[in-house]
Amino acid sequence: MLSFSFRPYHLEKKHRFSIAGGSRTNTPVMLIQLKFESYTGYGEASMPPLYGESIKTAIEFVKKVDLTVFKDPFNTEDILNYIDSIAHRHPAIKAAFDIALHDLIGQMLKIPIHSYFGLKAQDLNTSKTIGIDSPEIIRQRVEEAKDFQFLKIKLGGATDREIIEAINEKTSKPLFIDANQGWASKEEALDKIHWLKESNAILIEQPIPKNAYDAQSWLAAHSPLPIIGDEGVQRFSDLKIVGELYHGINIKLMKSTGLREAFKMAQTAKIMGLKIMLGCMSETSCAIGAAAQLGALADWIDLDGNLAIKNDPFTAHEVRHGVIKLNKLPGLGLIDPKWEQIEDYMAPAH
Ligand code: MG
Repeated sequence: MLSFSFRPYHLEKKHRFSIAGGSRTNTPVMLIQLKFESYTGYGEASMPPLYGESIKTAIEFVKKVDLTVFKDPFNTEDILNYIDSIAHRHPAIKAAFDIALHDLIGQMLKIPIHSYFGLKAQDLNTSKTIGIDSPEIIRQRVEEAKDFQFLKIKLGGATDREIIEAINEKTSKPLFIDANQGWASKEEALDKIHWLKESNAILIEQPIPKNAYDAQSWLAAHSPLPIIGDEGVQRFSDLKIVGELYHGINIKLMKSTGLREAFKMAQTAKIMGLKIMLGCMSETSCAIGAAAQLGALADWIDLDGNLAIKNDPFTAHEVRHGVIKLNKLPGLGLIDPKWEQIEDYMAPAH
């Protein structure tokens, strides 16, 4: 019989993290342990407040889940369709069950999840994300990220120029630019994209508000750099609008409801000729370990969420000189997970 337990947890970030639209020092997550006979799988929902899920909504969701009707974890389609049918939206907590189920199946088959999906284990050159900050702090963050070959830079505010000037003083590494919908118009966005192209940017993520379809379509036709949809592309069904709007998509397990749909999105996006970025939220090595299993499908990897937190309760793939070394362990690649030692605690009210 399939059974599960869950634990709310709060990830504490090493540094305050600011983007266009918000700033935070911690991220609520819900961790799931799924059991079948002597096998165990782990999953995670990461729920940054701006996306609408919380510990409260996750608890309400898990209280509705009854897996006892499923006698065989290999009925993955039935199980995950059932999880998806419990409520509209809630992609992160759905992803927690999807990730745990894949981990469990990997344990039972004794194969890593990339093999389950028919993919090769590949070293993954992840970018390191630098949030919006003062030029002094930005220079410090560039220094701290010296091992990484790509930097992901958050823009979308009044200080874009000083941020990029501070970065260009320190490095000529290729930059992923993420404006998080922060630029007000298509003209402002196009001006900035031309300037950023001269400042080592190689792609632009979500430049303008996601619902500004006409403006985004115009921008995609005029931009000298590829434009990647993130907030504007959540699940598989969103691919139907992507072709006109973006040159690529940022796939995240916490948007796609997990590995099953992320894999399908990546396969289809490739056939459509779209570029693929594999991204993340603030996550532990559990969800990052899961996403890394799909790394072979991506053009660009942005899986550094676990590196930015102080209290990761899991250990998975080693990151050496900015490169994720995918291990060959079964399932997600978690190393000796210790569920009993994960303390429940809520962040102090503030
Ligand atoms: Mg983004």
